[in-house]
Amino acid sequence: NTFAEIDLGEALNQNIRRCKYVKPTPVQRHAIPISLGGRDLMACAQTGSGKTAAFCFPIISGIMKDQAAQRRPRGRVAFPLALILSPTRELSMQIHEEARKFAYQTGVKVVVAYGGAPINQQDYFCIDGGDSLPCGGMKDHFGKIYYRLFHSIDLDKLRWFCEADAALRWCSIEILLRELERGVDILVATPGRLVDLLERARVSLEMIKYLALDEADRMLDMGFEPQIRKIVEQMDMPPPGVRQTMLFSATFPKEIQRLASDFLASYIFLAV
Ligand code: AMP
Repeated sequence: NTFAEIDLGEALNQNIRRCKYVKPTPVQRHAIPISLGGRDLMACAQTGSGKTAAFCFPIISGIMKDQAAQRRPRGRVAFPLALILSPTRELSMQIHEEARKFAYQTGVKVVVAYGGAPINQQDYFCIDGGDSLPCGGMKDHFGKIYYRLFHSIDLDKLRWFCEADAALRWCSIEILLRELERGVDILVATPGRLVDLLERARVSLEMIKYLALDEADRMLDMGFEPQIRKIVEQMDMPPPGVRQTMLFSATFPKEIQRLASDFLASYIFLAV
């Protein structure tokens, strides 16, 4: 009935307390134990139901507890362990924000990549420690400093929004690529941008253990099915059976049911 009773790992439980989440929402109450138990899940969840934490908590917890997670190659190609696909950059940014809040001091690194801007001028949500940029920003209750930058990476054109409680940084794809090179555990991405990174051979999905599809019905409405299939195909290389998949959707037309039967293995259907 409370998060304190669920063993998600000390660091994550502590972040949950910090964020003052006490009781799981209905979707969390059911989805988290199912996912911690290793089962695939298809869940009916609307915005505001707490679905983001429902898929982020088991992923962060699983990566924290996975010793093998430490032994991955670092370099030009990033090998994330978890992939969260979402239809829009706004949603990707929200998921990233939620995930990195709960990944704080867990050693789990979250990176976001989304489309909607020319490839050489990708807008990119990024949390900065505060050392590299001269002024402004807002400190949150974790002591991290956030900046909101936009329009250009040119420092002269930076504008600071001190009232903002989060940071938005416009920057080039190079910064995203550098970020990926430093290592990523959880990659939050829109399908189009991820396909681009795969084609550039800067991300490999070989080591993905957790896949979450958020607002799957919206992704299909936006025409992302070919990209999603292309992405999942790359995870289905041997060894099989290691990937755990969570599909969240507000509606369940036959296209979603087909995706579920193609991507999920003996899954539990959750409608709360
Ligand atoms: P979501 O449906 O994931 O977009 O979450 C909706 C809002 O509820 C977000 O602002 C979350 O931070 C918040 N939230 C999610 N789960 C909980 C919880 N168990 N207790 C309190 N707030 C929560």
